[in-house]
Amino acid sequence: MISIILNGSIVGGREGMTILELAEENGIYIPTLCHDPHLKPVGACRVCLVEDESSGNLLASCVTPISSGMVINTDSQRVIEARRMNAELLLAGHPDSCIVCDKGNSCELRKVASELGIGHITFDRIRRYYPIETANPFIERNLSLCILCGKCVRACQEIEVIGAIDYSFRGFKAKPATALDLPLEQSICEFCGLCVAMCPVGALTDKLSRYKGKERESVRTTCPYCGCGCSIYLNIRDQEIISVSAASENSVNNVSLCVKGRYGYDFVRHPERLTTPLIRRNGELIEATWEEALDFVSSRINEIKQRHGSNSLAGLGSSRCMNEENYLFQKFFRAVLGSNNIDNLERLNMHPVVEGLEESLGVGANTNSIEELENSDVILVIGSDITESHPIIGQRIKRAVRQKGAKLIIVDPRKIKLNKFAELYLISKPGTDVALLNSLLNVIINQGLWDKRFVSQRTEGFERFKKHIQKYTPEYAEKITGVSAQDICLAAKLYAGAVRASIVSGTGITQHRNGKDIAQNLANLAMITGNLGKEASGIYYVLPQNNLQGVFDMGIVPDRLTGNQRFDDDGVKNRFEKQWNVKLPDKPGMNAIEIIRAIKGGSVKGLYVIGDNLLQGFADKNYISEILKSLDLLVVQDIFINETAELADVVLPASSFAEKDGTFTNTERRIQRVRKVIKPIGQSMPDWQIIASLSTKMGYSMNYDSAQQIMEEIAQLTPTYRGINYSRLEKEGLQWPCPDSNHLGTKFLYEDSFEGGKRRFKVVDYNPSKSPDTGYPFILLTGGALYHSGSGAMTQRSSLKEICPMFLIEINPEDAKELQIKDGDIVKITAFEGDMMARAKITPVVQPGTIFMPLSFKLFNAEASKKNILNRCKLEKIEKQEYSGQHVGK
Ligand code: SF4
Repeated sequence: MISIILNGSIVGGREGMTILELAEENGIYIPTLCHDPHLKPVGACRVCLVEDESSGNLLASCVTPISSGMVINTDSQRVIEARRMNAELLLAGHPDSCIVCDKGNSCELRKVASELGIGHITFDRIRRYYPIETANPFIERNLSLCILCGKCVRACQEIEVIGAIDYSFRGFKAKPATALDLPLEQSICEFCGLCVAMCPVGALTDKLSRYKGKERESVRTTCPYCGCGCSIYLNIRDQEIISVSAASENSVNNVSLCVKGRYGYDFVRHPERLTTPLIRRNGELIEATWEEALDFVSSRINEIKQRHGSNSLAGLGSSRCMNEENYLFQKFFRAVLGSNNIDNLERLNMHPVVEGLEESLGVGANTNSIEELENSDVILVIGSDITESHPIIGQRIKRAVRQKGAKLIIVDPRKIKLNKFAELYLISKPGTDVALLNSLLNVIINQGLWDKRFVSQRTEGFERFKKHIQKYTPEYAEKITGVSAQDICLAAKLYAGAVRASIVSGTGITQHRNGKDIAQNLANLAMITGNLGKEASGIYYVLPQNNLQGVFDMGIVPDRLTGNQRFDDDGVKNRFEKQWNVKLPDKPGMNAIEIIRAIKGGSVKGLYVIGDNLLQGFADKNYISEILKSLDLLVVQDIFINETAELADVVLPASSFAEKDGTFTNTERRIQRVRKVIKPIGQSMPDWQIIASLSTKMGYSMNYDSAQQIMEEIAQLTPTYRGINYSRLEKEGLQWPCPDSNHLGTKFLYEDSFEGGKRRFKVVDYNPSKSPDTGYPFILLTGGALYHSGSGAMTQRSSLKEICPMFLIEINPEDAKELQIKDGDIVKITAFEGDMMARAKITPVVQPGTIFMPLSFKLFNAEASKKNILNRCKLEKIEKQEYSGQHVGK
């Protein structure tokens, strides 16, 4: 402790604390403009000056650490005059445009000027006029108002670790600018909006909320896009969301959000929102009342059930809907309809990895928390363009590298943005990850780099595994993977040498035909080096959708009930039967692909889809749409009409995330509150209310008053959720397993032991793909995209569409030259499964022979996977441009 005299009193502070921090801790206000507790202090604005009587100096309190002997005055005449002069100097260069400035009464410069009693400016005015930049859809820049506090520059560099802007030019011309002073939309800016959130004046403003006035209420909720599960405030006025800000307290995202979270909210009031139920009559979807729609659905379901049995009904839940809604959906199917045919396409995509991790480690879920990544010494990112798909996780990795000295290893066939942070970048041939991982394991074992204690105490099968791995020498793996033997050795040593090492994988693994094998090899890698059961050491597979974990947890799975409880476990089944007061079906049901096949085969007659566009999940939409047309009943429940809804017999309008209460579970198993912020649009209803009404109409009463009541039932039936209730979630989310109401949740799994004792190393062999079909020379890679999410239902109906109105396909310049495709051309991509069109982006980030496109257009094809074929396709330039969207350069 260091003691100083502060405004006449002796106060103690910790070594390294600044005068400003000590003053704030003691309730003494010092004005600031360039300071933010999340940024490194720079002392640029000088309005935080204080006086040290012991030295006679005026000191910038935000950058001066306390030291013994200091006698600090924060409000002496000298201090006030010095602050006033500095504020006046800032005002001399600041146009008097307050009356039309959107910052209004939130302007910190105005506040400081008013506190210091500045009535007029005595200095000559310094005119610095810059044109107002309005071209991009999210951020308006009026740098004439900039006071050079540097918060935007520091936020972009220190927190986002993007560095899109920096101080440029000198003297009066100094300003924050992009490289070459280009407009933001032509720079590396990712429009996260943190610079705007931090700007103390009106130099940077949100375009979407300009001139909409100040919010009347801010409600904390959870972002509806990716699995990071960022906490946000929806700022509302007159039932309209006018802006989104980051909820920095107790959140995974702190002050940050990505462009989707901050600016992708206007889909909520999009004119295409479904506002009334629709029933197909004479081939057309016609508006109907809720009574008519629910009558229609219940009578048709009853008919099908009576005529063809329960197994002729199937449902697809949603990774966009809340836990409570998915829970009710599967309960409706199991308890009311007697069918276990319940699944979700996204869940099915992730299933191989979940299954692999479950078999290897005991739990098929992410082992550790997002924030822990920042404390890892080594991070292996494999098959994940994480800064695009999950920017907040990407940000943690970048900060770990830049600010904490972590070493990053990237394995990817495509150059990703994170590469510039990497110690090692291994460009592997697509489909060879198993061989590469086996080779890393070979080096670790043969060079004695494995964790002997962990292996002997917590694993088994090591000797057999060691034998198996011998053939995967680095030289052998080099031939398969294209990664040099030397780099394989370096990567193995780096990973095994870390005290805390983490693995981050994404859709490049999770949606790979070998997903299970790769996941088990990742588990082998973490086990053999003892990187499990402790902080900042684990395996992350990032979930693309906001509530995909919730889909698993809520039993939207044909053979599992909530919390991954096996349906074939009689004890579990009995508990559910007792609670639900029904007899449950005898056997597990069909998964999504089996359901489609059963529709084609004629055994499934009725399908109920909530919050998903089934057709979007398949490349061959015509084929799938013909199958869906053969159904006796197709019910679609969503917030917009989509291609699947266009085929439906009944469309039920659901409410968006902003119009209902509930919970989402993010990729790190954190259950977080979603809160109702505005009234449901039109006659739309929360999904849980629709399901409950339908169920009650069909004779099985679901009289829940609120989503909270549903969560109480979930907690009762689900051991991993037993300690969850809404009052505990009020302030922050809790990570399962949370077995009782005193449990604080589980930050990382397997601390003391694995489920079921020691875990066995799984022997995984590399099986090469069959030789490619010569008609399809390109390998299609897919992944996340910063400006898109899922099927695009929300992102393509928000301002995000303006920055990237259509999907881009990345083609290597060599391939483009050969095919005479230029940047911006429309190309047709034809695969084994079907075709689609996209705009070409010619870029060396993809290797010759490979192309990349966002996941939203993934080619999902179980048949192809079974045949052991990588997604192969051919390209062809389309002369007549059928798309007119303007590509702005992202
Ligand atoms: Fe956070 Fe993901 Fe939402 Fe972006 S999309 S704000 S990273 S939850």
